[in-house]
Amino acid sequence: METILVTGGAGYIGSHACKALKAAGYTPVTYDNLLTGWRDAVKFGPFEEGDLADRARLDEVFASHRPAGVMHFAALSQVGEAMAEPGRYWRGNVCASLTLIEAAVAAGCLDFVFSSTCATYGEHDNVVLDESTPQLPLNAYGASKRAIEDMLHDFEAAHGLRHVIFRYFNVAGADPEAEVGEFHRPETHLVPLLLDAVTGRRPALTIHGTDYDTPDGTCIRDYVHVSDLVDAHVLGLGWLEQGKGSRVFNLGTGSGFSVREMIDHAREVTGRAVPVMTGPRRGGDCTRLVSGSQRAEHELGWVPRRSDPGQMIADAWRWHQSGHYES
Ligand code: UDP
Repeated sequence: METILVTGGAGYIGSHACKALKAAGYTPVTYDNLLTGWRDAVKFGPFEEGDLADRARLDEVFASHRPAGVMHFAALSQVGEAMAEPGRYWRGNVCASLTLIEAAVAAGCLDFVFSSTCATYGEHDNVVLDESTPQLPLNAYGASKRAIEDMLHDFEAAHGLRHVIFRYFNVAGADPEAEVGEFHRPETHLVPLLLDAVTGRRPALTIHGTDYDTPDGTCIRDYVHVSDLVDAHVLGLGWLEQGKGSRVFNLGTGSGFSVREMIDHAREVTGRAVPVMTGPRRGGDCTRLVSGSQRAEHELGWVPRRSDPGQMIADAWRWHQSGHYES
């Protein structure tokens, strides 16, 4: 049974990836500093507490587990914070990833799956966002992820680090069995905030901007179910194991939904009112981010099964009501 080192395995996407890896026959070893991750979310393999900036600790973990590959999820990922404190993003994402990549290369662990983001594309009016779209990030979050992508190319050229880069669109939903789910502190993401407004954990959802150039004035995003997303990662690992070349894949469905449409879906799924307020635009938000690529479907054989908004919100709702979720 092969071992995979999963950085950020105690976080939202990483914990779902560990579940998918275990189901596919791998042993996922979580490496996480628990700053934004949750010890309780590590359920599917061993846990190694550590920071990505700690090279000695990384070397120790590579030596003791001898992973066949790395899935690198650990990152800072809040646009607002990135606008206010770019240094944290360059240090916490770029410098930390450099340390991880150097440790992986030193250990001879040369299959690397990286979670990047559609935020690396920035704002492109009326342009289909595919993997060849120029990357012009609007904020330090997107810029830091683009820099790590560049780093991977350089380490492949010099050291043979094979990599699959996934540029995520908007990840939502939760494990259909509610073993793990989405929980950030602070929470900034639309679907959990919507459900918090439904349950009264928060007084209302604030819509960040109603004057965008979209049919209902609110931003449009391409939402992808976290379980579908992590399935793509397992396929990406298989791609590398089959000796196929390094590749970039968008992970989105190609369908965009506005904030107001998501509110309507939440109302329908929960059967309850969603208290809503309107507010100004949030700095760093793009008007419309929708994937225009089916490369992952065509080349990896990825089939998103649960990525319609109703299903995503229903799975997130089950998680919210599961008793594991707290705020
Ligand atoms: N959004 C919103 N109110 C909130 C949180 C998010 O209106 O309290 C909007 C946000 O402006 C964006 C969409 O919902 O258009 C998705 O935001 P999220 O933070 O979930 O993901 P992002 O697009 O920033 O990765």
